[in-house]
Amino acid sequence: MTAPTLLQQLSSDDRWTSSVIRDLLVHARQPGVLSLAGGLPAVELLPSSAARSPPIDCSRSEVAWHCNTASRAASPSCGSCCSRDAPDVDRILVTAGSQQALDLVTRLAASPTETSTVVIEDPGYIGASQVFRSHGHQLVGIGVDADGLRVDELADHLAAGLRPRLCYVNPTFQNPTGATLSAERAQRLVELAETYDFLVVADDPYVELALDDRPAATPLPESPQVIRLGSMSKTLSPGLRIGWIDADPRLVAQLALVKQAADLHTSTFNQLLVADVMSDSTWWSAHLDGLRNGYRQRRAALRSAVDRHLPNAQVTPQGGGFFLWCDLGVDVDTLLPAALDHGVAFVPGAAFAIDQPANTSIRLSYSSGDQTQYDEAVRRLAAALAATTS
Ligand code: PMP
Repeated sequence: MTAPTLLQQLSSDDRWTSSVIRDLLVHARQPGVLSLAGGLPAVELLPSSAARSPPIDCSRSEVAWHCNTASRAASPSCGSCCSRDAPDVDRILVTAGSQQALDLVTRLAASPTETSTVVIEDPGYIGASQVFRSHGHQLVGIGVDADGLRVDELADHLAAGLRPRLCYVNPTFQNPTGATLSAERAQRLVELAETYDFLVVADDPYVELALDDRPAATPLPESPQVIRLGSMSKTLSPGLRIGWIDADPRLVAQLALVKQAADLHTSTFNQLLVADVMSDSTWWSAHLDGLRNGYRQRRAALRSAVDRHLPNAQVTPQGGGFFLWCDLGVDVDTLLPAALDHGVAFVPGAAFAIDQPANTSIRLSYSSGDQTQYDEAVRRLAAALAATTS
């Protein structure tokens, strides 16, 4: 037998797996299918060019040239796109969305000599598990309940000898469960990181989308062990690809070198556009209020459809973000094809599972799609469920 050619080897390299959600969205876009699967923002809630139309002068040197400091904030104003408070620019690296931030942190954290372990919420964000796996990290899933990561479970694993290099959390309105890490658990998590010397990667793209009267989550305590990731994708536009890392300056300097090798720098044009949009703080906070109002209505519409058509579903309590995590109490392994036949798409919980099965849960998104159709979408889902479980 002849050895496979390089092209054959590379084209069948299974370190690169496709996100289940991306594959699913192809079906979800078929005519007649109502989708509760995607996690993109509602386009009608994003600003139109009429709301603000910043004329960006492409001949301005900071737009035309790339940033010579290895993609650090391209200008002081870009730093301010990352935070409403004046940021310390040495702590900030602007990235192509928080997905690139995750990739850079993962590359930096990989041990050159051995397989490194990464702890992740279970169920956890698919884009994170995908990037950790693709770099050869070994994943350990730690359960999530309505107060976020089961930090007690993590403490038990650490006491038993687990030595991760990273612990990934999506602390506010987690994708997929909607859960928010409680202040006590956040405190304990950072203490554990300091005791056992691992880095906490706090990926927080939904933090601005608090939909209840409760105050937004308390951020993780300050510590050199904490790397915070942020994104403009949920509040302004995912297509702009603007996110950021906020971390200890020593880590940021290294991450800037990792990024230099990846893409030299994040689009300066887009950074300036974001900085310009956010420089009007009155407009920005009114925009965020508009988003919250819009998503509050969408969530209410989806929640009432679930209550009406899936009365036995256990919905994880959540205070915002994009998702409802529903435990249907029965194995839903075969529900997706049946649901597509009935004209509705959703994401099966199993897609987010790390070590613990999530076969009875599904993720429903209220972030996009026509909210007047949510009732019909969940009615179809309930019909598909009845057809597969009868
Ligand atoms: N983290 C989480 C938890 C997400 O849900 C998403 C978007 N689905 C991302 C990161 C990626 O966002 P970005 O567009 O900023 O790369």
